[in-house]
Formats: sequence, structure tokens, C-alpha cells
Amino acid sequence: MPTEDKKPILPVEVDRDTYRRFDQRKNVFGRMLHDTGADFHKVGMYDLVKEIIGEDVEGYTHMDFARVRGAWAVYNHFHQAFCREGSTEANTVMEEVIPDRYEVEDKKKMSQQVKETAGIYGACKTGITKINHDWIYTHDMDGKPIHIPEGYKNAIVMLIKIDKEPLTASPSMVAGTENALGYSRMAFVIGCMAQFIRTLGYKAIPMGNDTALSIPLAVEAGLGEMGRNGLLITPEYGPAVKICKVFTDLPLDHDEPRDHGIARYCKGCKRCADTCEVDAISSEDEPSYRTVSESNNSGIKRWAVDVDRCYKFWVGNGGDCSTCISECIFTKSH
Ligand code: SF4
Ligand code: SF4
Repeated sequence: MPTEDKKPILPVEVDRDTYRRFDQRKNVFGRMLHDTGADFHKVGMYDLVKEIIGEDVEGYTHMDFARVRGAWAVYNHFHQAFCREGSTEANTVMEEVIPDRYEVEDKKKMSQQVKETAGIYGACKTGITKINHDWIYTHDMDGKPIHIPEGYKNAIVMLIKIDKEPLTASPSMVAGTENALGYSRMAFVIGCMAQFIRTLGYKAIPMGNDTALSIPLAVEAGLGEMGRNGLLITPEYGPAVKICKVFTDLPLDHDEPRDHGIARYCKGCKRCADTCEVDAISSEDEPSYRTVSESNNSGIKRWAVDVDRCYKFWVGNGGDCSTCISECIFTKSH
């Protein structure tokens, strides 16, 4: 690893003059739905699937696509896991008696118990940070303004590990199945975590990619750093993780952002940029405030990814792409 530049890049550098909270409708999926000026407006990720599976190429067969769809099933159908309403209701599954509120006498111990519980449900790592309102979307995908009610102070940020072996088949539906499974596991974990917190007598809003930007929250919770490929890079699993979070009023201790040396390493490593088939990843040495797509929110120092190019490549593949995950040095090294 390069050692000459020891200056940490932490946690997320923001230019206060230009940074604005992001509208979720401006991310690539939001623009696909709402941005009539985008050349991928109304072009769904799987729109070309019928033609693609008709060619019966390995990794893109009808069987492969059926596996992808099966893997998305929990994520797609478990709407309650991604619902901001009903954040105080513990009795949604069984008509049990709910005990009195659990009194938290030791925030540090409670944080440890939350992390252990997240591990039981399937998170590979958990960090806790205060809710930074900079990262909350102004509006959701349907254009509804997002307001987090009073009292919510803490974000429990959980990582879901995805298996790096199937990702080596990227881009293909084989890798797509593993990605989709990651999202379905995420729905499972946040649903369980929210119910755990509500049963202790506290409020919980579970979320996947919705409601707030996951990567900066994960960085602030000490789980990793933002990499050249635009993803959270963790020291343990590289970028082979999905991020989910639960906002809560449960009293908890906070983790601190940590310098793992990852963003510094990215300055000298351009492997993801070299292997991306559509040159969507920057090869510039230094991160900057430059943006390359309307879906890059301004005012954040990073290597901006051309997500328009990336998304169109996904559509052309009949699914997604994970090459910049599987090829990352930090994925390969665990
Ligand atoms: S997902 Fe694929 S197309 Fe998109 S940036 Fe990564 S390597 Fe490039
Ligand atoms: S492949 Fe290299 S440059 Fe790209 S994110 Fe991983 S470590 Fe950083």
C-alpha cells in the first residue's frame, strides 16, 4: 500500500457553500422514473431481459433470471421493512402483551447488546452514529417530503455481507442473484431490528437505501470509507456489503469515524476504474468536488461516478453489474 501520503480523508468532506440535502428522485432510479430529460427515462433495469434470455448465453439464461427474481422476493414484498410509518407499533405480528419500557442504565452496554442482536439477525458488522440530518433525503422516490419526527437521535447502521465468489461472474445474472439476495437479507435484518427496538419500548424507523444516504452514515459510524468506486469500502469485506439502517430514540453510545487508510490507498490504486467496461469511474489521482452526472450531489469531496453510464450498462446486461465490487483489492484480500 502507498504510505507516502499520510493525510487522512475523514470522515466525509463537505463544502458548506454548495452542499444541499439530496432529493431521492435525483438518484439514477428516481431519474429513471421522473426525469423526462434523461436518456434512460422509463427504461427499467430488466427491460431487455426477454431478448437477452432468448439468446440462452451462459449466465444470462431463463434459469439465471428466475434465480435473480427469486432472490429479490423478500425485498420486493416486505414493504413493512421499508416503511417510515408505524414506527412505534410493536404488535404487528403477534398479539402479545408488550412489557413496560426497558430502562437503559448503561448506553455503552445497550450499544453492545444492539450490535450482538444485529449479528444474531444476520448483520456482519454494525456501527452506531448520531443522525446527521445532512444525509436525510429531502423527498422520497414518490416526491413525498421526508421529515424525521422529534426524538430520533441515533442511527444503527448495519452491514450485510455478500458472497464474493458469485460476484466474480459479474456482469451476469449469477452475480445479480447475489446482489438481490443481499437486498432481501437487508429487509429481513432491518425488520427484525426494528421489532426488537419497539419491543424494548422505543421507536424505530427501518430503512434500506431509502430515507437517507447510507454511505456517509456508515462512514460516520466507523464502518469504512468512501472509495474511488463510489461505494463504502470496509476493511473486513471491501465493498462486498449492503448497508441498511434503523433510526431510533433508544439511548445509545456512538462510534467514531475511523481512518482505515482505504481512501488513501484508492489514490494510488485505479483497478476499479481500469476494469469498468464503460469508464464510469474516475481515474483522477485526487478526490474532488467535481460532478459528472446529475445524480452526483454537489458539495461532497469524492471520486464521482458517472452513474448514467453505469445504469445504461446495467440495462444492456439485463440486470446489474458488480465488477467494481469484485475487482476491488479490498474484496479480493478477505
Ligand atoms: S457497476 Fe459496473 S458499470 Fe457500474 S461503475 Fe461499477 S464496474 Fe462500472
Ligand atoms: S479497486 Fe482500488 S481504487 Fe478502486 S475502490 Fe478498490 S482500492 Fe479503491
